[in-house]
Amino acid sequence: MGEYDLVCQTGGEVFEDGYDFSCPSGHKGLLRARYREKRFAPRGCAGLFKFYDWLPVRSSYETESCPVVFRSERLSKELGLRDLWVGLTGYYPERNCKSISCSFKEMEAYPTYARFRDMGGKTLVLASAGNTARAFAQVSAETGGRCVMMVPESSVGRLTVTEPSDSITAIAVKGDYADAIAVADRVAGFDGFLPEGGARNIARRDGMGTVMLQFAQTAGRIPDSYFQAVGSGTGGISAWEASLRLIGDGGFGDRLPRLHLSQNLPFVPMARAWNAGRREMVPEDYAGGDVSQVYADVLTNRRPPYAVDGGVFDAMSACGGSFSEITNAEAKSAEKMWLQCENALPDPAASVALASLVRAVGEGLVSEGECVLLNMTGAGRDRVREDYDMVEISPKAVLEPDAADDELRSILDV
Ligand SMILES: *Cc1c(COP(=O)(O)O)cnc(C)c1O
Repeated sequence: MGEYDLVCQTGGEVFEDGYDFSCPSGHKGLLRARYREKRFAPRGCAGLFKFYDWLPVRSSYETESCPVVFRSERLSKELGLRDLWVGLTGYYPERNCKSISCSFKEMEAYPTYARFRDMGGKTLVLASAGNTARAFAQVSAETGGRCVMMVPESSVGRLTVTEPSDSITAIAVKGDYADAIAVADRVAGFDGFLPEGGARNIARRDGMGTVMLQFAQTAGRIPDSYFQAVGSGTGGISAWEASLRLIGDGGFGDRLPRLHLSQNLPFVPMARAWNAGRREMVPEDYAGGDVSQVYADVLTNRRPPYAVDGGVFDAMSACGGSFSEITNAEAKSAEKMWLQCENALPDPAASVALASLVRAVGEGLVSEGECVLLNMTGAGRDRVREDYDMVEISPKAVLEPDAADDELRSILDV
């Protein structure tokens, strides 16, 4: 056995990592990494690979990119909280935040590329035009890890990196996001290619969990409560799993942080299911959820890992979590509050998280002395443009959604 095993969250099967997304018995539950190292002992380097022992990788990359945990005196005063901590992943040099793609998706990208390299250098396939594409493109440029990105044609031009790289192949797909996903699914089946896997990819989850680990290193404890805006909810699952590992260390007590997750109205399917006390999501949870009306559009995931074993429902149940539905007006007013306190434009999703904290304070859901970790999941795209010349990634081809596999293969030289 290696430095970690995989454990099926449905049946408890334990097995070695062969880059599986589900258990050998065919159970549907998420797999979770179980690390041989039980002690929390970050290494002396900068960057997220200081948490190497609790990442599902055998190799690492040198990088400064890492969530940064700090106290914002102004924000604490504004909210009347005495023990508030911010975890920020983004570009904000004054606070030593140097994640160039400006969101915590970058924490998912690094260990995913390392895991792909461990698996023999396969090419990663994904469909996205937003923060996921930006993070996986930037980290590809920095590490040379190969990726193929399917981008809906209307989103071409939104994808930028700090340095051009041969390792990135973008393909524009005529149609919407669903069409891009369908093409990505086909390419991921080619020899030498693998899907990035979303929430089922343990490298993505444990990479996201590094904000909780950075909190533990900085504050020396587990927080009482954790605030994050979610689309898939994977960050919530990750915060729970990282907390379980910290509890397993023995030096951090045995209390899980209470998860305070939030979504952005009018698209709030998980919040509705949770607040109705249901494990299953039903079509009504999506009713009226016009995604074009959502300020933080990165939060509009249509198939979140909510009911699955080891997923969002289980994470929320374990800690008695709360789920709030935040309006665009609340998010924009939180954004203003943040800008008055800290000088880096937050990602709209981070503003949703702050808005949920503002609301929780107003409703008396958190007390003045409670230890709070606010996960500001993205910030600084305005700042990064000042400091770097960003280059646009232009698509290698523009395809119809029903393009033949042969055409795809010839574009990809396989
Ligand atoms: C993706 C994303 C989120 C939501 O992440 P989950 O996968 O739902 O945990 C929140 N904020 C930003 C900036 C994101 O890019």
